[in-house]
Amino acid sequence: VRRNAIVILLLLPVALVAAILLLWPKLKATFNAQAPTPVYLVAIDTLRTDALSVYGGKRPTPFFEEFAKQAIVFDNCIAPASWTVPSMASLFTGLYPFHHGSVMALQQRGQVKMQEKLSSGYLTIPEVFKERAPQGVQYHTYGVSGNGHLTEEYGFAQGFDEYVAHRFDNKNAVQSSWQGMLPRVAAQYRFGEGIFAFLFYFDPHHPYAPQEPWIKEYYPEYLQPSSQILSHDMLDLWEQGFFTENPEMVKVARAMYDSEVAALDDHLRGVFAELPGYDEAIIVIVSDHGEEFLEHGNMIHGNNLHQTQVNVPLMIKLPHNEHAGLRIKEKVMPIDVLPTLAELIDAGDVGQVDGRSLAPLWRAEKWENRDLFLHLSVPWARHRALIRDRYKVIGTAAHEPLVFDLEADPDEKHDLYAERRGEFQPWLLELKKATEMKVRYTPEIVEENMTDEERDHLRNLGYLN
Ligand SMILES: [Zn+2]
Repeated sequence: VRRNAIVILLLLPVALVAAILLLWPKLKATFNAQAPTPVYLVAIDTLRTDALSVYGGKRPTPFFEEFAKQAIVFDNCIAPASWTVPSMASLFTGLYPFHHGSVMALQQRGQVKMQEKLSSGYLTIPEVFKERAPQGVQYHTYGVSGNGHLTEEYGFAQGFDEYVAHRFDNKNAVQSSWQGMLPRVAAQYRFGEGIFAFLFYFDPHHPYAPQEPWIKEYYPEYLQPSSQILSHDMLDLWEQGFFTENPEMVKVARAMYDSEVAALDDHLRGVFAELPGYDEAIIVIVSDHGEEFLEHGNMIHGNNLHQTQVNVPLMIKLPHNEHAGLRIKEKVMPIDVLPTLAELIDAGDVGQVDGRSLAPLWRAEKWENRDLFLHLSVPWARHRALIRDRYKVIGTAAHEPLVFDLEADPDEKHDLYAERRGEFQPWLLELKKATEMKVRYTPEIVEENMTDEERDHLRNLGYLN
């Protein structure tokens, strides 16, 4: 009897600790009346809207469709630039490219040679969670990027507790880093703490790798002709005139691109199934830009501001799928994500941003249309665009301005500039003035492995001042 009593006495503290551990989330929730909403920001590089069946794409993307049924779908989301660096810096800061200034980078065969660093002075989305969450709410911030432009040295790790940026790698690399973080994310979530995680997938970006089984359906003879595409850099092929000489190859490229999207669709089902607190989470899916397949005389992206290169998906799942299935027609931008998330988590003041919270749109509150600005400033293309109501005006040094009626002509086939020049001339002046480079912090230029020749060339073009 005495021995049993001693055993019980010894076990008592162990049982007590176990009970507290088991009940901890509930105890904590009682103290912390407002348990923080988990937030997941999933960005997919180079995702044009019609790559998804949700947006009318012909090839099915069943996972995105399922997700869209739980989310609010924005039908007209326009990226402020048509390539990664300025667009992702805009997503992160809520600022237009001409207001954050990270508009230029050079990359060659998977190696970034120089990039205008995102200044630490700006408030980024992870910093909103880290620094502006309501008092008493603590968020843990995680990020994984498959795109080598989003590394710590280029300013993209600010605000993250844990951040991994791969040098241009696919979903498997992102997944392996994310899997490493997941046990901590899950434990913190169980203990009633806030989670913000950012996942950035590079997969649909060229070079395209044909993904089975989808490629066999999209282009049954793919093995033979695609070997030409597979063994070359897309940019080189385009510059050599390969696609203009072989229009059939454009279809092969599109099939390969779509197969990458389909494989990612399939992959994300598993990733999303494991997200801690999925039901009560806010989940945003967005892209940095689209992709062109010769619709406007170009391939890939980052060479003009046509809709094929800037129209991107945006879907927001609210806690418990509130407003699920709602489709929003108003024109919005990825720069709206920061103020939207800030409002949803009751963050404090996020200062002056160019974006605007999208919450009034699903609450059916008053919404005034605004001018949207687009900006592309790289040595091979300098374009600006203004979208006002149904019209889009594109100004460029390379040719006459372009004007499109996006409602009557969403594919931008009929330029109205020549016939309505007088009407749109003042818009072009406004566009020029509004998109002048005006930054709070001049970006630092981070160089890596640049030759003197390349440096001189950039300096002559007005970069590297
Ligand atoms: Zn990109």
